Amino acid sequence: MPKKAAEPPTRFEDMDLSKQMLKALLHAAYETPTPVQAGVIPAALDGVDVIGQARTGTGKTASFVIPILEDLLPKREAANAQALILVPTRELAVQVRDEVDKLSSARRINCVALYGGKPIRGQIEKLKEGAQVVVGTPGRVLDHIGRGTLQLSDVWCVVLDEADRMLDIGFRPDIERILRKCPQDRQTLLLSATVPPAIQRLAQRYMRDPVSLDFSSGDIAVETIEQFYFTVDHDRKFDLLVRLMERENPTQAIIFCRTKRGVDRLVRRLSKTDKDVDCIHGDLAQGARDRVMRRFRDGKLRTLVATDVVGRGIDVSTISHIINFDLPAFCDDYVHRVGRTGRMGREGVAFSFVCSDEGPQLTRIEERINILLKRDEIEGFKGSAPVIEQAVDENQPKAPPPPASALKRRPKRYKRGL
Ligand code: AMP
Repeated sequence: MPKKAAEPPTRFEDMDLSKQMLKALLHAAYETPTPVQAGVIPAALDGVDVIGQARTGTGKTASFVIPILEDLLPKREAANAQALILVPTRELAVQVRDEVDKLSSARRINCVALYGGKPIRGQIEKLKEGAQVVVGTPGRVLDHIGRGTLQLSDVWCVVLDEADRMLDIGFRPDIERILRKCPQDRQTLLLSATVPPAIQRLAQRYMRDPVSLDFSSGDIAVETIEQFYFTVDHDRKFDLLVRLMERENPTQAIIFCRTKRGVDRLVRRLSKTDKDVDCIHGDLAQGARDRVMRRFRDGKLRTLVATDVVGRGIDVSTISHIINFDLPAFCDDYVHRVGRTGRMGREGVAFSFVCSDEGPQLTRIEERINILLKRDEIEGFKGSAPVIEQAVDENQPKAPPPPASALKRRPKRYKRGL
C-alpha cells in the first residue's frame, strides 16, 4: 500500500544536507522543500529504493537530483558514471541536466544528457571527460552502451523518471535491457505520475523492497488551475481559438493538438495573422526544437503549438494558458498537459475544446481528475453543439442535437458516474 510520507521535514536545513547543497539551494532560490522533496529526499539519502507517485511541476526532479549529488563519490574512486537517469523525452533530458547543473553550482560535477537527434560525437566526448551523472532517453543510452562509450560498472543509482510515460511510448524493453546491465546492488528511484500494474511489475522485478510514497492527491493540475471547456463543432475550432486568444490575451500559451499534422496545420493557419507562434513536435530536427524551446523559455515566443509527447516535459513557469485544441487520447495526458501551467503554485487556466462526439472523453477526464470542468462560452460565437450530456447520460431521452439557437442555454449536467 502506498503511504503518505510521515512527518516529513519542513526545511532543507533539517534534511542532513551538505553545506554545499544548502548553498546551491539558496542560490536556486529553493526556500522550502516541496512535499515530494520532503518525502523522497530523506528516503533516498537512506539508500532505499523509492517509488514516488508525483507529476511534473511538483519539484520531483530535485527530489532525486539532490540525494544523487549528495552521495557522489570523488572521481578518483569512481571514474565512470555513478548515476543514470532515464527519461522519456529529449526535452526532459535537457531539463533534468539543467537541474543537476543548477543544484551543483557550488561544486564541480559533470552531467551529460544523451538523447537522439544530436550528433553522437559530442556526447561521446563529454562521456570521455568523465561524467558522474548521465541523463538520457533509453534508446540513446543503449546506443552508447552498445558502442562501449558508456560504462555502467560504477552506477550506484538509477532513476526512472516519468516511468509511466516511458512505458507508454514503448521504452519498456530498452529500460529492462539497461537495468539488467546495471550493478545489482544499486539503488533505484522510480518517479511516475501514475502507478498502473505495468509499473508495479517493473518495480517488482527490478527494485528491492521499494518504499512507495504517494503525492498524487496534492495534484497541482487539479487544485490551482481553473479548467473550462467549450463545446464546438469540428470545423469551428479554429475560429473559436482565434476568439479565445483575443479574449484571454495570454502571457504565454501552449495549444495542444493530438497529431503532428494537426500541429503543423494549426501553426500554419495561426501564423498568417500572428507572428508570435511556433510549434514543437517529434518530427522537427533537434536543433529546431531546441531553438523553439529557447525562444519560448526566454519569453520571446508567446504561443507554442505542441503534441503530447514533446509538450509533456515543458517546464516554463510563465505559461498562463493551456488550450486543448484537440482533447488528448488518454486522460493522463490531460493531466500532463494542464500541468504545464500553474507551475509551483502559480495561477493558470486551461480550456478544452469538446466536439459533440467527445462527451464520453470529457467525462473520463473529469473522473480522472475528480473535478467537473466549467462550461465556458464566447459571446456571439455560434457553432458549438452541446450534445455532451446525450452521449453519456442514459437517463436523458434520445433526441436529435439541439438547434444552434439553443446554444445560449446552459446545458444540463451529464452524469459523471463518480
Ligand atoms: P519539476 O516538478 O521537477 O519539473 O519542478 C518544477 C519547477 O519547480 C522547476 O522549475 C524547479 O526549478 C522548481 N522547483 C523545484 N523545487 C523547488 C523548491 N523547493 N522551491 C522552489 N522551486 C522549486
